[in-house]
Amino acid sequence: MQRASLDLTSLERLDELGRRVLDGGRISREDAMALFNLESTSDIFALMSWANRIREHFKGNKIHLCSIVNAKAGACSENCSFCAQSSFHQTGSPRYGFVDPEPVMEAADEANRNRVTAVGLVAAWKGINEGPMLDEVCDRIRELKASGKTRPDASLGIIKDQKVADRLKEAGLECYGHNLESSKRFFPQHCTTHTYEDRVGTIGYLKKAGIKICSGGIIGMGETREDRCDLAFSLKEIGANVVPINILNPIKGTAFENVPPLPPMEILKTIACFRFILPRQEIMIAGGRTVNLRDMQSMVFTAGASALMVGNYLTTLNQSVEKDLQMLKDLGLDPDWEGHDFADQEESGCGCGNGKCETETAESTV
Ligand code: SF4
Repeated sequence: MQRASLDLTSLERLDELGRRVLDGGRISREDAMALFNLESTSDIFALMSWANRIREHFKGNKIHLCSIVNAKAGACSENCSFCAQSSFHQTGSPRYGFVDPEPVMEAADEANRNRVTAVGLVAAWKGINEGPMLDEVCDRIRELKASGKTRPDASLGIIKDQKVADRLKEAGLECYGHNLESSKRFFPQHCTTHTYEDRVGTIGYLKKAGIKICSGGIIGMGETREDRCDLAFSLKEIGANVVPINILNPIKGTAFENVPPLPPMEILKTIACFRFILPRQEIMIAGGRTVNLRDMQSMVFTAGASALMVGNYLTTLNQSVEKDLQMLKDLGLDPDWEGHDFADQEESGCGCGNGKCETETAESTV
């Protein structure tokens, strides 16, 4: 039998941290690393129990559902080591130009039928500038918005001009997906054609335009627990509203095709640690959950997740939406059908909850 790595004093510390977060306080990076370093299954379950309470306290029984449309596929100029759509990798994934209105409206109909809050238009390219392509993207966003069937989101890569973010906002865009992907330290291990700073800069333009931020990362790329911890604190620092956690699904032909998978308990522990660091954010489980968690998928909610990417991913399949909806029903959870304005994420005061602020930022990202 595996020996518990927490003694009584440490379990009391876990309870103290859990209560502090429930009371609106924050945990330090040092405390967070102690949680990331828990080893035994019994300790991880104790951690998840608190993460579940924190989720219920701040999010109730609502689960935010999102889906995506691959609006422009393949032949991307960037060299992200995990990505099947990079032109640096021979993966045989589809390639096509920016989609016509019909497939986008079909995705909106399907989202509406399945009580999915948002449909994100995702484009495999480096980024978007002023020009005919931005005009076309804005048209799709306006059409989606006018349909009233779903919230139009987008993930269009790097933005280097405030005017672009402002035009997306004018077209009706409410939320933009742009992952930091990993810690600043680990970023060059998976991408060298653009920088972590390019990503943080894009988020700055979007926030200035009044667009909500969906930003998270990928775990299981060979990063350390410190990298995961720093990613979570950086996402807090940039003010991410939705935090997608992707779990690497190594695709044949990519640079990461042979990276060994993370054990499911390590994945669940990471989700729980993110909930402690980001108690009010939507923590969304995105790509890689079916292949990495298998029968343990439903445990993401007891680990603190409050949102789920449903439907197929960009280049890989997911379990059916019907199965996901049944999973939520069986857990007594409800799709957050109407979505919200993210007002529940606002903290009052300094947020230390103990009369003193123990926040430490990770690496400076903004
Ligand atoms: S992750 Fe995005 S930017 Fe990177 S290669 Fe894939 S599509 Fe291009």
